[in-house]
Amino acid sequence: MARILLIEDDAALSRGLVAALTAEGYSVDPAPDGASALMMASDEPYAIITLDIGLPDMSGFDVLKSLRARGCHAPVLILTARDEIDDRVRGLDLGADDYLLKPFEPREMAARIRALLRRPQVDPAPVIRVGKLEFDRSHHVARVDGRDLDLRRREWVVLERLLSRVGQVVSKDRLASEVFGYDEPVAPNAIEVYIARLRRKLEPDGPTIRTLRGLGYLMEEN
Ligand code: CA
Repeated sequence: MARILLIEDDAALSRGLVAALTAEGYSVDPAPDGASALMMASDEPYAIITLDIGLPDMSGFDVLKSLRARGCHAPVLILTARDEIDDRVRGLDLGADDYLLKPFEPREMAARIRALLRRPQVDPAPVIRVGKLEFDRSHHVARVDGRDLDLRRREWVVLERLLSRVGQVVSKDRLASEVFGYDEPVAPNAIEVYIARLRRKLEPDGPTIRTLRGLGYLMEEN
């Protein structure tokens, strides 16, 4: 059963869509605003995300940007009341997969969702190579110069998050929010501990994780 994250602040519309999609056999989690949607998407791998553009706390475009920046590749179906061509183009440019103009029939939404689910899922880069590091997501193996790295689960996730943004500064808060669930208690120095362990494991030939005081971490090819 495919899981759908339904981001919509109109409570009545949301209830109606949840009922319609549940009747189609989907498991649907409603999110009434951008912040809770991002929280939910970081905890749960969704097969499809439907995204209202007009949300109370942030625009759907910002939600989409955050989702993609966090490495979420789930197909996104934009729901917009605005029929401005600019909105549609902007959404598609930001990585949305399709859009529906409000008002629409739930049947039409279900048809679009079926079409998106039929699309072959493209994994952008199952293997990431940075210098002598080879990070193979599909086989869950990381090697430096042919040497297997023994990574614990969280270390793997921290490394993966840094590798998805090589050459960019990633703040400690952002890493923490991506590595831990929002309701999980996190020790203040948890990320520092993982970074220190990763550095030891990547040495001497792997890429370098630089600390930029007050800004975050930067992964660089060695
Ligand atoms: Ca709305």
